[in-house]
Amino acid sequence: MPLVKHRKVVMLGYPSVGKSSLAQQFVSGEFPTQYEPTIENTWSKTFVLGTDEFELDVVDTSGQDEYSLLPQSFIFGIHGYIVVYSVACSRSFQIASGLYRVLTDRRGKCLMPIVLVGNKIDLPAQSRQVKTEDGKKLADSWGAAFIEASAKDPDVSKQIFTKIIEEIDRVERSFSDEKSCQLM
Ligand code: GDP
Ligand code: MG
Repeated sequence: MPLVKHRKVVMLGYPSVGKSSLAQQFVSGEFPTQYEPTIENTWSKTFVLGTDEFELDVVDTSGQDEYSLLPQSFIFGIHGYIVVYSVACSRSFQIASGLYRVLTDRRGKCLMPIVLVGNKIDLPAQSRQVKTEDGKKLADSWGAAFIEASAKDPDVSKQIFTKIIEEIDRVERSFSDEKSCQLM
């Protein structure tokens, strides 16, 4: 039996962009029908990726914007971040970029595993306010991965959580690089 690798990630983003829905879709394989805006929960799921078994804790936050300080519990002992915006809400995209600034202020400018997610692409095309290329550009400027998603799609939800595991591994492997640094 290979050792189970433990990973803890935090979901951040403007309220109502679909953080909880993405997490629940991944953990329980269902798109939740009830909207629970205040829920702040840690979801756990064990899954196999390649030859490794991972136990992933997903910290689902509520009410983060670029002004509210990220609590210490969202900074220390966290392996990576999933920053979510809604493609139908330009404000949520601005908040995502503000959240990155807060994260780098708090964690220091070292390599940080992040997946930027543009959610709700199932909504009609006319409600789109954030272009795919703008999301991609923002993620590139962070050195982060980028995925457009719908929490109604189980495959893409799984892809997000697989991606963050891969990003964490990628950043860990590059710790010997000069560019990266350890958290104090
Ligand atoms: P959170 O505040 O970021 O955790 O957002 P929630 O997951 O609670 O979702 C807020 C609202 O958006 C709920 O009514 C969800 O059903 C809806 N929602 C979440 N993800 C999607 C999505 O991908 N597509 C659509 N159409 N609605 C979504
Ligand atoms: Mg929520």
